Amino acid sequence: MTFQALLVEKGADGAVSANIRELEDSRLPDGDVTVAVEYSTLNYKDGLCINGKGGLVRTFPHVPGVDFSGTVEVSDDPRYRPGDRVVLTGWRVGEIWWGGFATRARVKADWLVPLPETISTRQAMAIGTAGLTSMLSVIALEKAGLSPLKGEALVTGAAGGVGSVAVALLARLGYSVAAVTGRPETADYLKGLGAETIIDRAELAEASSRPLESERWAGAVDAVGGDMLARVLKQMKYDGAVASVGLAAGAVVPSFTVIPFLLRGVSLLGIDSVMRPYDQRVDAWNRIASDLPMDKLEAMVVEHRLSDLPELANLILDGKVKGRVVVDVN
Ligand code: NDP
Repeated sequence: MTFQALLVEKGADGAVSANIRELEDSRLPDGDVTVAVEYSTLNYKDGLCINGKGGLVRTFPHVPGVDFSGTVEVSDDPRYRPGDRVVLTGWRVGEIWWGGFATRARVKADWLVPLPETISTRQAMAIGTAGLTSMLSVIALEKAGLSPLKGEALVTGAAGGVGSVAVALLARLGYSVAAVTGRPETADYLKGLGAETIIDRAELAEASSRPLESERWAGAVDAVGGDMLARVLKQMKYDGAVASVGLAAGAVVPSFTVIPFLLRGVSLLGIDSVMRPYDQRVDAWNRIASDLPMDKLEAMVVEHRLSDLPELANLILDGKVKGRVVVDVN
């Protein structure tokens, strides 16, 4: 048997290229469960892996694809049977293990999550790591005491994948949502997802020398990092909480100070989706099933094929992908 995959190869000159290849099943890695992949998606990390950047892929040739959804074909694990619908996100699949940009994948059963009944395999990839991470952020903010009564919630990098899902989730949960974007042309899209206020990225991008600014946000989901995270922390209301998710503007926060923690009791919550334990994943997928408006999700989706991925990889690295890319691998 063979399967199709986007194979990333490194030439003798060190140049990395990605091409669709027909591969023998015997080349699939070791694992307990073989999945007929139906859909995958595109994350920032996929952009890096397809281009061999960031040191994420150590061994070539490699099949990237951090996330996938599909149906179990063969299982050596009693938890899964042929025909079960499953989703996989994270666990460094697509980075150090072969991933979802293929029609077939073999993985460890521990990494899979059964899909909730009401979520299709296509919707699962419209959600993907980005959506799961947004849900984990909202759950963390709730645990820190956030509720719609406490005030406005801010989302940075709002037109991106994590940001778009966070806007839709928070709006559905009754929050007044402010969306920060560097792309003013996405204002109607963000309002359609439920944002009440659109904030120009330039307003928050520059470092401020002030230790605190006027109290504005009760909670925030930050996909951007860098100086924007420091600005957001300085604008949090007393007892507010920020979920730190991403680093679209950089991992270093040059203007960071502890003053918001000390004078306003602000919390900074770290969000990791990759190594998240199974039970918390199941809870988050169930929350997504109940709280994410699927019509809004559909409005975020652009569907593509495996062959489009090399071009899309460059776009996501340039911050030019809007919403969620769903890849129909067949
Ligand atoms: P996207 O590329 O889809 O979105 C990122 C968004 O950030 C862009 O759309 C843009 O939004 C904004 N942005 C880009 N560059 C800059 C910049 N220089 N300054 C300010 N804003 C910028 O990526 P994802 O949504 O998939 O991921 C967002 C971040 O979260 C990434 O850093 C990713 O690595 C991280 N991540 C972390 C996870 C975790 O487990 N912690 C899981 C998933 C992702 P706009 O155009 O609206 O301004």
